[in-house]
Amino acid sequence: MPRTSIEDAVARPAGLAETIARVRAEISNACQGAQRDPVSVTLVAASKLVVADLLVQALGAGHRIYGENRVQEARQKWPALKARYPDVELHLLGGLQTNKARDAVLLFDVIHSLDREPLAAALARQSAQHGRRPRVFVQVNTGGEPQKSGTPVPDADRLIAVAREQHGLDVVGLMCVPPAGAPPEAHFTLLAEIAARNALSSLSMGMSGDYALAIEYGATHVRVGTGIFGGRPAQRARELPKR
Ligand SMILES: *Cc1c(COP(=O)(O)O)cnc(C)c1O
Repeated sequence: MPRTSIEDAVARPAGLAETIARVRAEISNACQGAQRDPVSVTLVAASKLVVADLLVQALGAGHRIYGENRVQEARQKWPALKARYPDVELHLLGGLQTNKARDAVLLFDVIHSLDREPLAAALARQSAQHGRRPRVFVQVNTGGEPQKSGTPVPDADRLIAVAREQHGLDVVGLMCVPPAGAPPEAHFTLLAEIAARNALSSLSMGMSGDYALAIEYGATHVRVGTGIFGGRPAQRARELPKR
């Protein structure tokens, strides 16, 4: 049976450091092409379904910024790793249930998936209660896909305003996941437009297949999973619920 890329990475610890370096170099290239400073792009290593052994390798290679999709999985994996690497910065990339707002506020430094007002209210309440104020991206469902998280495009301006003004959240930018298999350019452009008219400076867009392109369109945060860690177990990935 052919080895999976994850098995390969485990077998060759140096491989992961090299892979991360290669992704960083591609980010630098894309920045150069777009006449941007490479420090203006943050690489978030999307580590859903990635086991702790591999994370230790990536941490050993010096990478400190990781994104998880599910609160429960992050709670199982990260407290022990954070104890060893206190300068880890943890991002929540997946949709968030309102009843998990407490855990999310306690665990994550950045939340990319604010997409409705009740969640903004819950995050504000938990922030006040726990004295933690994660930075927040409003996720916009630029493709209008019913199965996806994200606020509908027509509601985005209002949600941004309410999250900031009514709930006092630290809204730093917008996030999108364009429809799979479609050209992402129009989605990147739309997200950048909504951000510009709301004076938001951060854009979380671009994944393994299109992060160089996203950087051309102004991405400040790229979320790269398979491009760093290799393929995720397909069946478990399919079982991931919407939020
Ligand atoms: C899984 C995931 C990523 C990373 O996807 P890859 O294609 O593996 O790079 C980025 N963003 C979100 C929201 C994800 O769920």
